[in-house]
Amino acid sequence: MFNIIAIDGPSGSGKGTIAKEVARRLNYTYIDTGAMYRCVALKSLELNINEDEEEKIVELLKNMDIRLTNDGKTYMDDIDVSDKIRTMEVTSRVSKISCIVPLRLVMEEKQREMAKKSNIVMEGRDITTVIFPDAKYKFYIDCSLEERAKRRLEQNKEKGIESTYEEVYNSLKQRDYDDMNRPLGALKRTDDQHYIDNSKNTKEESVDEILKIVGEE
Ligand code: C5P
Repeated sequence: MFNIIAIDGPSGSGKGTIAKEVARRLNYTYIDTGAMYRCVALKSLELNINEDEEEKIVELLKNMDIRLTNDGKTYMDDIDVSDKIRTMEVTSRVSKISCIVPLRLVMEEKQREMAKKSNIVMEGRDITTVIFPDAKYKFYIDCSLEERAKRRLEQNKEKGIESTYEEVYNSLKQRDYDDMNRPLGALKRTDDQHYIDNSKNTKEESVDEILKIVGEE
């Protein structure tokens, strides 16, 4: 049996960066489940499949090979799509397709398979609640909406993307709403997650907090 560290949290909370660093320090495999949903969204756009053609979208995932590398790269059918899955077009499509229940069920299978091969740090929205509710280590990484918007605005500036604080704030708020109100796999806080508030912490402090808990229990 391999170890599982399950991490959930809202968009922009810093959970990806933290999860990746925890995996690096422990020499575990890092799995970004958002990237998996993004691959399906990308492929559906490439093949001009409409977002309400649910059966076709589920088939896409069934026949797709997704490979995630520890340095954060995503390969879809052996093609590096790490940048392509981060466009605005994919981001807006992914919120809609991730509501498709049969798609989530196929994802569930694929994600559980991944834990049979190595120790993993898996992050997303439903990892602590649906995918691995019995994982020994479960974390919810939170951050205030204001702080997330501030950080996202900075990242956009660095990437040369023009945006206002208000735009970024409203888009994160909408994604929170979508993520927390899905019929299956909604983002939730539960009593058995360790809660980490990344608004107050530096990345290193959040990583250390997780490593301390993992080491202690
Ligand atoms: O983490 P990231 O923002 O890249 O995820 C993109 C989208 O994928 C989320 O907004 C959500 O709609 C979906 N997602 C999900 N369940 C997960 C991970 C991501 O529904 N476990």
